[in-house]
Amino acid sequence: MNQVTEHGGGVWSLRVPIPDNPLGHTLVHVLDTDRGPVLVDTGWDDPGSWTELIGGLGALGIGIGDVHGVVITHHHPDHHGLSGRVREESGAWIAMHAADTAVVRRTRESDPGTWLDYLARKLAAAGAPEEHLAPLRAARSGGRTGTLPGLGAALPDREIVPGELLDLAGRRLRAVWTPGHTPGHVCLHLEEEHPAGLPGRGRLFSGDHLLPGISPHIGLYEDPDDQTVTDPLGDYLDSLERIGRLGVAEVLPAHQHAFTDSAGRVRELLDHHEERLTGLLALLAVPLTPWQLAERMEWNRPWDRIPYGSRNIAVSEAEAHLRRLVKLGRAEAVAGTEPVTFVAV
Ligand SMILES: [Zn+2]
Ligand SMILES: [Zn+2]
Repeated sequence: MNQVTEHGGGVWSLRVPIPDNPLGHTLVHVLDTDRGPVLVDTGWDDPGSWTELIGGLGALGIGIGDVHGVVITHHHPDHHGLSGRVREESGAWIAMHAADTAVVRRTRESDPGTWLDYLARKLAAAGAPEEHLAPLRAARSGGRTGTLPGLGAALPDREIVPGELLDLAGRRLRAVWTPGHTPGHVCLHLEEEHPAGLPGRGRLFSGDHLLPGISPHIGLYEDPDDQTVTDPLGDYLDSLERIGRLGVAEVLPAHQHAFTDSAGRVRELLDHHEERLTGLLALLAVPLTPWQLAERMEWNRPWDRIPYGSRNIAVSEAEAHLRRLVKLGRAEAVAGTEPVTFVAV
């Protein structure tokens, strides 16, 4: 089956499709252990994706009931979506970093109305125009709060502890905490010699943190209950540098394809973000709200063709960049503005 790639040394990847998404698929990794196969991520919760996951495992001679454990890089539905179903059918444990487990728990317990209120409040504070806020308010007052993705996401059984080896019989897999894309994102360092003898220190399951051709989305952590002024972009850039210093021989990311030269890719991404921050500073020669900044930033299409939901994500990304610039002392909030505007200093 061409959806299965053998990486050597008891590691395979399976392409599990993400429906209606330009990313195409998640690479679910299978890691052989002395107690049975362990999955790194599981894929999107959709009947077609499930069929592909089962088919890919079957091509390796693995029945779903054989799966021993599930290690999750981060809580996003293209990674954690099928975990609950895998556990149901196999009795496998699920492991996740505590910060992402907290997001899963919060999402499961949250009332969708609370989330809509948070979003409306946050977008208004970011300077969103009335026509963008109106649908949120209408949905809230009409009781059309809908359902949130992740409402039924599985609560993990085990915690991934940064810096520690996971309890995997016969393998050395160490958790590296790489917050930024989510607060509890982890990369997993397979501290074993590369099976083809490539130079470097083992291999890295990098999730969405380090991808060969995509710069992952970095927005705010969006916790309605937390007033802490976090700096996700700063977290991301710090985690990138740490991953670059690992000097791994090969990276096995959760999208696209495996690649070598992790240090070169880290450098590219750091340069990309530095350029982007410099570009934003030029825009901030005049005071702008986060919404106005998002409108002026470069996206993969013009602002007026960006769909509603993606605009919310774009504003979150603009806010994360403003947080970073403020933290670096390169921009500041203009006192007395409402909604607050930011300007380069
Ligand atoms: Zn993700
Ligand atoms: Zn992803």
